[in-house]
Amino acid sequence: MTSMKLSQISVETLKGVGAKVAEKLSNIGITSIEDLLFHLPSRYQDRSRIHPIIDLLHGQTAQVFGVIENANIVFGKKRSLVCKISDESGLLDIRLFFFSMAQKKAFIPGQYVQCYGQVSRAGRGISMIHPEIKYLKNQSIPKLENGLQAVYPTTQGLHQKTFHSIVKQAVQYLDTGYVKELLPEKLLQKLNFPSLAKALHLLHQPPLNISLEDIHSGEHPLIQRLAFEELMAQQLTMLHLKLARKSLKAQSIDINQNVISQFIQQLPFQLTNAQNKVIKEIQNDLIQPSPMSRLLQGDVGCGKTLVAALSMLPVAKQGLQAVIMAPTEILAEQHGISFKNWFEPLGIKVVLLVSKMKIKEQRETLESIESGDAKIIVGTHAVFQKRVSFNQLSLVVIDEQHRFGVEQRKTLLDKALDSSNNLTPHQLVMTATPIPRTLAQTAYADLDLSIIDELPPGRKPIETSVISDLNREKVIERIRSACLKDNRQVYWVCTLIEESEEIPSQAAENAFELLKEQLTKLKIGLIHGRLKPAEKKLQMDAFKSGELDILVATTVIEVGVDVPNASLMIIENPERLGLSQLHQLRGRVGRGDKASFCLLMYHAPLSKNAKQRLQVMRETNDGFIIAEKDLEIRGAGEVLGTRQTGEMLFRFADLLRDRKLLPLVQQNVTSIAENHPQIAVELRKRWVKTGEQLSHV
Ligand code: ADP
Ligand code: MG
Repeated sequence: MTSMKLSQISVETLKGVGAKVAEKLSNIGITSIEDLLFHLPSRYQDRSRIHPIIDLLHGQTAQVFGVIENANIVFGKKRSLVCKISDESGLLDIRLFFFSMAQKKAFIPGQYVQCYGQVSRAGRGISMIHPEIKYLKNQSIPKLENGLQAVYPTTQGLHQKTFHSIVKQAVQYLDTGYVKELLPEKLLQKLNFPSLAKALHLLHQPPLNISLEDIHSGEHPLIQRLAFEELMAQQLTMLHLKLARKSLKAQSIDINQNVISQFIQQLPFQLTNAQNKVIKEIQNDLIQPSPMSRLLQGDVGCGKTLVAALSMLPVAKQGLQAVIMAPTEILAEQHGISFKNWFEPLGIKVVLLVSKMKIKEQRETLESIESGDAKIIVGTHAVFQKRVSFNQLSLVVIDEQHRFGVEQRKTLLDKALDSSNNLTPHQLVMTATPIPRTLAQTAYADLDLSIIDELPPGRKPIETSVISDLNREKVIERIRSACLKDNRQVYWVCTLIEESEEIPSQAAENAFELLKEQLTKLKIGLIHGRLKPAEKKLQMDAFKSGELDILVATTVIEVGVDVPNASLMIIENPERLGLSQLHQLRGRVGRGDKASFCLLMYHAPLSKNAKQRLQVMRETNDGFIIAEKDLEIRGAGEVLGTRQTGEMLFRFADLLRDRKLLPLVQQNVTSIAENHPQIAVELRKRWVKTGEQLSHV
């Protein structure tokens, strides 16, 4: 009998899968037997044994058998029903916070019960909160399951029972059919990994002696085997995208070194070595007839804007267009000013495009973009509205990329494709705060990576203190002296409570009023998301020019804002923010040559996690170290922002947990792509449902 390929057998061949079940399965991406085999349990339950109460460990999920001693309603912080049961080894409390009188009545002393649930050991007592309870007819232990029970991720209307029955049949198919092994035999041996068929089989029907702890944490070789294959597929996809992009055509840019030197000479400072190095890397890309796709990483304040400008300069000089897109209007405005200062003396026209502009001004801007009169376009996401039509757009720079969704970035690039000659623009993506290197190399493997690892000379590290809001008076004193004695300026930042802009705006307004009362001699401004763009600009300009001493703001000032004389920042409720956001905010000070300070004014009590974050902020100013810590504290999904956007990067792999696998994956990717192109295609098809999904364009 020839062996059957299980990816080609429909789940409808299984007993119990009619049209209805088939449709539900298909909704969660399962149509073939192979798909079903890849639908692995999210956890397992061990109901194969009874644990003596005395042996129960905190946090463990366990099954006990005992007799009810008594049951009482207890009034603690919360009212609860506590039923004491005993076995030969000890006493256990079953605690119910929600219960009916019928439930209370069922707890009859002398009744035998079997309970399954999570153990909590607090103080001297051992308890289970809301366990599953079975009331037994007599005092002999009933028949137990003879294996671990898998719990499947499911969708409405599909029961665990259904999964158990159909997966059992699917696993049997593994005897006569096959799921194609895509990893080379040698590699499996070298890494001591089981075959794919074995891994799938065991994960659906694990033996009793398997370490559930390792399975659940993902450290078990069975999971590692799948994670490895998945990472491999993801890297192959990235490589594929990268090569595909390299095969596109782009406008090759002439780099006129004279023009560039002139530009650099009129700057009030010298470029850092790191800036020079990445500019070279970018120039080498721009002269190619295929599009650049480069990620520029660098810490806050390392001077990425200037690198962007120097990349755009030769493009504009050649009579072509370059656009830089910023995530907020404030930042776009500010870039607009810098770029006008830099480029207009050279006779290069710069326009600013944001969504809220006067009709006439907007029309003129759009016209000059379309005619090609404007060479440098600075804007927010407004630059990819339908109405904008570019004229020979040849370079797209995306500033603070983590704030743009993948979709937004793609729209811009699609739009930028010059359909008259099929040229794709060069692309430079800049991050706001660093991403750990391993993570960047994996998640953005389709991009080339440039790193600025040095700050301009003379920057003083920002001294950060963590202080309770009970000491608000001291903070006010500190502000008074910074402004009146030292002539410095101050940011007062109110943080987000929820995802809405309303609440922090209100908080900022309140803080503003309060500070006005307490600091009567100082001029205070206010900026938040509810203000009109013109008002925002007014406040920002007044702060920049030094008219205002204090700027009360929400996190709208998070990115890019550059006022070198501001050297003190107070962040209210910093415990609400993530590390990279705090680091980004703090980067608004320490931009001049004077010592700068940041006060993280928290509201007690702090969670353990928040304490850890604030501690990290106090200890270091290095964005790359902070990025590593952030990854450890929050995990890869959060750091890459994929969790918020709902994109799922991986099913089994976890970039943090599986970091040690990454070098191995990378070692093998090129050889598989080159020597086994067919396997590469199959791996991509198996794991990356839509090839584009993982693209970070
Ligand atoms: P970021 O990388 O965070 O975007 P910016 O581009 O906003 O940083 O630069 C921060 C500040 O440093 C700006 O005021 C900029 O003019 C200044 N700057 C940039 N490069 C240098 C340099 N080589 N030497 C001194 N100052 C510089
Ligand atoms: Mg910047």
